[in-house]
Amino acid sequence: MQFKDLYRQYQNIKESIDNSIQSIINSSDFISGEPVKLLEQKLSSYVGVRHCITCANGTDAITISLRAILNNILQKDWKNCAVFVPDFTFFSSGECPAGLGLPVYFVDVRCDTFNIDARSLEVAVEKVIQEGKHKPKIVIAVDLFGQPAEYRSIRAICDKYGMFLLEDSAQGLGGYIIESGHKNMAGSLADIATTSFFPAKPLGCYGDGGAIFTDNDEWADLCRSIAIHGKNADDKYDNIRLGYNSRLDTIQAAVLNAKFDVFRDFELDAVNNVADWYNEILGSTNLILPKVLENYRSSWAQYTVKLPCSIERGIVQERLGRNNIPTMIYYKKPMHKQGAFKNTLSEKADCPVTEQLCETVLCLPIHPYLEYRELEIICKELQAAL
Ligand SMILES: *Cc1c(COP(=O)(O)O)cnc(C)c1O
Repeated sequence: MQFKDLYRQYQNIKESIDNSIQSIINSSDFISGEPVKLLEQKLSSYVGVRHCITCANGTDAITISLRAILNNILQKDWKNCAVFVPDFTFFSSGECPAGLGLPVYFVDVRCDTFNIDARSLEVAVEKVIQEGKHKPKIVIAVDLFGQPAEYRSIRAICDKYGMFLLEDSAQGLGGYIIESGHKNMAGSLADIATTSFFPAKPLGCYGDGGAIFTDNDEWADLCRSIAIHGKNADDKYDNIRLGYNSRLDTIQAAVLNAKFDVFRDFELDAVNNVADWYNEILGSTNLILPKVLENYRSSWAQYTVKLPCSIERGIVQERLGRNNIPTMIYYKKPMHKQGAFKNTLSEKADCPVTEQLCETVLCLPIHPYLEYRELEIICKELQAAL
């Protein structure tokens, strides 16, 4: 059994994938070809924002977006701009702001949704103001495991303190929040948003890829420039700022174009069905199941349960592994405890919920092509292990 069965997905849409890859080889237009533009149009209209700018990966997408936000601030002053990041996330969410030289403050998450806790955020912001060393400037909210963060309350805090809001939706594409009968899609929930097309993400390509979403015309132009060596809008050999080489290559765009319809029209419902089956079968165990808030929809990048403290996670994992059931632990270490942040201000974080999650979470196999009979086996073995 695979944790994410990407090959099964390929078998389902083999013809269109093969044809689109072959067509790029035939045209030999490997960089910035037509399919890249087509993908950007499809995604911006799907997400409901004016601009989609593709780039090389989800990590670059965060760095480039931060550079766009900080554009009007001199680089020497970046070190005063505090960035708030959830403590329970993939490394990139904190790596990117820290890599630009910004002070990063890690904030605790909710124990039920795993997403940034709005109350802890406000406490952290107030503390930074009181300390007076840095100015609260940016919040990076993460749509962890597929569920959007609570943007209504996070936005209110950003507005109150004059901060910009970046949505790291690397795991969130396809999720949404319903408000007044309207679906607000992941990728449209902040001032600027980023996603990843790493193969295991909800919409994955066959290598690395990423994208930025924003309604801000000026930021969109900046992101396009920064992603391509700081080019001038009309002339790529006129370099008006320092940037990166961060493009989505044409073959990856073609793969994503081939996958997009089935992602939108089939896979998101299918993966939600799988999550519903898990909820039903595991509802009678002593596991704590992942919570999706009312009017929220997850794209289920992960299905993450919490084990009771009395149960040895390693033994459960080992036993499932012996029965050919792969499991993962996202994440084993709070961000503030990562070695990269040792001896920096970021290591001083007060995040007891994250610390407990890191000890107790277990991610079970989930993908749109997981069959009910496989799920029954997983749940049976899991119950036996418990
Ligand atoms: C995967 C991921 C990223 C980085 O995406 P890459 O394409 O691997 O660079 C950033 N943030 C989160 C939350 C992720 O899960």
